[in-house]
Amino acid sequence: MILNDKEFGEVIVRKNALSSSVKFSVSMNGRLQMSVPKYTPDFLVKKYLNSSRAQIRTKLELKDPKTQRSRDMKKKILMKKAKEWLPYRLEYFAKLYGYKYDNFRVSHASTRWGSCTRHGKTGSTTISLNIGLMNVPEILRDYVILHELAHLNHMDHSADFWKEVGSHDPHYKYHRNKLKMFSPGV
Ligand SMILES: [Zn+2]
Repeated sequence: MILNDKEFGEVIVRKNALSSSVKFSVSMNGRLQMSVPKYTPDFLVKKYLNSSRAQIRTKLELKDPKTQRSRDMKKKILMKKAKEWLPYRLEYFAKLYGYKYDNFRVSHASTRWGSCTRHGKTGSTTISLNIGLMNVPEILRDYVILHELAHLNHMDHSADFWKEVGSHDPHYKYHRNKLKMFSPGV
């Protein structure tokens, strides 16, 4: 059935034998779709819609091509900045404190600021730094870089590891906490 909503326009409602809960999605052409359990009465469908308006608005906004485009654009700019900054800063600190790593990668995972991996077979090391670092103050960016470099000697978060981080960044505890105010996702 199609429901005419004053805010969202035509909403396609599918009564689905397989669904056990109400789900909202957005079609390719931007129309709101609602999937509800098969025997849901129409008045309840409207009630669900009304109580989910905030959630639906966010969903529609995220799917909006304009929002998507501007996000892609921001990401591209950030990626460019990251490539112009992060590898050089990493190299600077590596030289300064005598660290050696094999590969560097710019990442855009949404959950971590950076990582340091030692590959099993070859033993080669890769340091990844998130492009989101370009959105945080420089001092916190440096903390993440020093953190990942210290992992080259300690592949864990042991007391020795933190001692090494602390020897290069005496305020690392403060920086680590400050960083929690930001999110690596772009
Ligand atoms: Zn770590």
